Amino acid sequence: MQVLRTVDEARGALAPVRRAGRSVGCVPTMGALHEGHLSLLRRAREECDVVVLTIFVNPTQFAPGEDLARYPRRERDDLVLAAREGVDFVFAPTAEEMYPAGALTTVRVAELTEGLCGPHRPGHFEGVATVVAKLLNIATPDRAYFGEKDYQQLQVIRRMAWDLNLPVAIVGCPTVREADGLALSSRNAFLSPEERRAAPALHRALRRAAEMVAGGGTAAEAEAAVRTALAAEPGFQLQYAEARRPETLRRDDTPGPPMVIAAAAYLGGTRLIDNVIVEKDPSG
Ligand code: AMP
Repeated sequence: MQVLRTVDEARGALAPVRRAGRSVGCVPTMGALHEGHLSLLRRAREECDVVVLTIFVNPTQFAPGEDLARYPRRERDDLVLAAREGVDFVFAPTAEEMYPAGALTTVRVAELTEGLCGPHRPGHFEGVATVVAKLLNIATPDRAYFGEKDYQQLQVIRRMAWDLNLPVAIVGCPTVREADGLALSSRNAFLSPEERRAAPALHRALRRAAEMVAGGGTAAEAEAAVRTALAAEPGFQLQYAEARRPETLRRDDTPGPPMVIAAAAYLGGTRLIDNVIVEKDPSG
């Protein structure tokens, strides 16, 4: 496994791979790897000849006052895990390497970024779309892997790749959870033992709302169910609960699936997000 620090090194390492006609799979992350990230690496390992992991805590996707400074950085551990998963290249640049002169150009995906996390994290998706476009241009993968855990992000990146004719297939992968339902996240490390015990309530609330939608409930009913459930949980401060059509992330008052029910909540000082997707029953 080779660790690449500069854009030139990455291009130099990957050009011969591409010339040899080998397929490249890329997994962009901010590091502090957990089983969720590893599931993406395993999928890439299965489907591609060469696997590129990127580790970059991207400053432009954090708003002022967010947790950029304290975001966990564990590169040594990450490299051990990556080697174990059969990663071929790790691209781990500095912020100066990625933004040597700041940036005058950004990628903004409209509409999909308007609801859910969008209003609560100004500039976030612009930062994400821009850095992912850059990483894909540097790694030039055939396939790039993203988790459904960050469902809005996945849809934003899909649309960005489609709108900009990026020659890459965006692959969405299911959310990996702890046994009690809590979605794995690098930010779970911030939870106190007591908060950790309370944390699965978020997923439980979403699951219950999903059952309502599966039984013909509306988006408004699903959202109210999440709000009520979390209001009864000490320590939780709900930021939003929204039920939307999965592909478009549009509101739709027609009851029943398909629907994605997504929520963000603070538990103490830690912001947790999660979502549950209710597919349309193919028989109905
Ligand atoms: P992050 O390092 O948090 O930016 O995440 C990097 C990638 O891993 C993103 O595509 C995430 O959606 C994905 N990811 C994070 N947590 C999980 C999880 N619990 N299950 C599946 N994928 C995840």
